[in-house]
Amino acid sequence: MDRQRTIKESVKVEGKGLHTGCYTKMYLHSAPENTGVLFIKNKVKIPANYKFVVETSRRVVLEKDGEKISTVEHFLSSLYYLGISNLYVEVDGDEVPILDGSAFYWVEILEDLVKDQDDLINELTIEKPYSFRVKNAEILFFPSSRFQVLCTISFPSSFLRWQTFYLKDLKDYKTEIAPARTFGFYYEVEDLIKKGLVSGADLNNALLVGEGGYVNEPRFKDEPVRHKILDLIGDMSLSGKRLKLKVISIGSGHLLHMKAISCLLRG
Ligand SMILES: [Zn+2]
Repeated sequence: MDRQRTIKESVKVEGKGLHTGCYTKMYLHSAPENTGVLFIKNKVKIPANYKFVVETSRRVVLEKDGEKISTVEHFLSSLYYLGISNLYVEVDGDEVPILDGSAFYWVEILEDLVKDQDDLINELTIEKPYSFRVKNAEILFFPSSRFQVLCTISFPSSFLRWQTFYLKDLKDYKTEIAPARTFGFYYEVEDLIKKGLVSGADLNNALLVGEGGYVNEPRFKDEPVRHKILDLIGDMSLSGKRLKLKVISIGSGHLLHMKAISCLLRG
């Protein structure tokens, strides 16, 4: 089993949010064993746990006692990769900074600060397969000694009909998954803006998909499906456990991830 981890010194990160466009400052501090990841906003401690998820449309929003923090998934994904399970995250703002739209800078900022703690981390293992569906999306879990994610996405777009990526080993996360940016379709941008989303998006922090191809330069030919794995790992980290299982995702998103985690943990 792995040890719990925190960081050895505090760090400040700031930037604009993807959806609100608002500027947020985050101060990360070490936390004792068995604390978990706690966002602290106006003195309210909001646990990074699926039980506090209140919105899953385009991003994950956590809320406790009227205090919300949005778009936590990329940051949490990087913490899962690094094994950081105990952290105080003071936030002065409503949304986690989007940085470059991926998890790469979070990993860069934090990887040299990781510190092992004495207690072992809680693991989630399963003895039989499970599957969960919402409409056409499906997610399956199989027993495995190692965390692996096979993901496939499909969109009604001539260009992005199917993409599949298999993360066989979490050690490849930094090179294969972390740099993959959030993405959106050209045709939906206007509608998203009307809904008050993506006001902080630009061509530096998001990959824009047009009818015939990418509008801006992709970092990988299959960047969208890699980003889906990035999101999935952030969502799964809201279980608060180290996952010893293989995940197969067929078009799954935040809502289905939350449903699957809560079913798995409640047995
Ligand atoms: Zn994302």
